[in-house]
Amino acid sequence: MSRFWSPVAQKLVPYTPGEQPRGGAFVKLNTNENPYGPSPLALQAIRAATDDGLRLYPDPAAADLARAIGARFGLSPDNVFLGNGSDEVLAHAFHAVFSGKGPILLPDVTYSFYRSYCALYGIENREIPLDADFRTDPADWKGHGSAPCGGIVIANPNAPTGIALPLAAIRQILTQNPDTLVLIDEAYVDFGADSAAGLVAEFGNLLVVQTFSKSRSLAGLRVGFALGQPSLIEGLRRVKDSFNSYPLGRLAQTGALAAWEDAAWFEQTRQQVMADRARLTDGLAGQGFRVLPSAANFLFASHETIPAETLLADLRTRGLLVRHFTAPRIRNWLRITVGTAQDCDALLQATGDITGRA
Ligand SMILES: *Cc1c(COP(=O)(O)O)cnc(C)c1O
Repeated sequence: MSRFWSPVAQKLVPYTPGEQPRGGAFVKLNTNENPYGPSPLALQAIRAATDDGLRLYPDPAAADLARAIGARFGLSPDNVFLGNGSDEVLAHAFHAVFSGKGPILLPDVTYSFYRSYCALYGIENREIPLDADFRTDPADWKGHGSAPCGGIVIANPNAPTGIALPLAAIRQILTQNPDTLVLIDEAYVDFGADSAAGLVAEFGNLLVVQTFSKSRSLAGLRVGFALGQPSLIEGLRRVKDSFNSYPLGRLAQTGALAAWEDAAWFEQTRQQVMADRARLTDGLAGQGFRVLPSAANFLFASHETIPAETLLADLRTRGLLVRHFTAPRIRNWLRITVGTAQDCDALLQATGDITGRA
């Protein structure tokens, strides 16, 4: 704290990212990175674009990428907003559509960055409690009485539980809140959930956010996007162009486009992650873990006798990093990224040793 901090800076609640160790040979299962690496065609495209052209500013609208993304969903480039990772897209969306309104609704257990944006932009939020199995009833998602709420934010699949909502539930939430913007964060959707992208043309109150960080293994490139009706997207552009005209560099635009077009790599790697997720789920369940049904590239697991914090420390000693959160409802749970088949074996071996149930 310094006496020079603004009142806004004093009230911030910054997000704490998972550890990125500098040295050491850790098996990194703590930040949901994709173990298979980006499309080789994306890397080739980035190398080919690494030239004198970098002296020029990039296309501020990333129009080629927006066109390609829109086309995949039967949408036009006007339906697509691009940002420096979906975290930036989410920040601009919160600013553009939620700030200055009534409280927004969030699940009590969800991606904690949403609360950071709320603190940054002075947005109030109300928690909708998930049930004992971390599930939600779409009927719970509406404003009180006749007053619409300021907005609704749902991660689908949810983080850090991995539980997906069926599309029918999203449709119900959109239908029962016609005057409320519903933001669906689909960071993990490609690992087995249904995207709401196909509902964008039908629902003017829907904003869908996706990222290249997880299923396309480009967390280091920083590319995310939102899909919505053009007037909504225009609102996000106004915020972005009041902040940074060029959130995506030339290499990011080029690499993301090549990754988007490499359907074969995308399909092969996500199928592998889903297959290993099933194996890891069974293995952990056999060692006394309760594992939530995951549609993401991670598992959320709690052991019947050994506290999560003990497991976290013991795994770290064995060279495996997983993620632990301290919020009351989930402090006895661990979030474990699905790594390579070999990483999964190493994790199961270590948890087998620790639990004595190898
Ligand atoms: C990883 C993640 C994101 C952000 O990803 P970016 O790397 O910023 O694109 C957004 N939402 C959720 C729920 C995530 O887990």
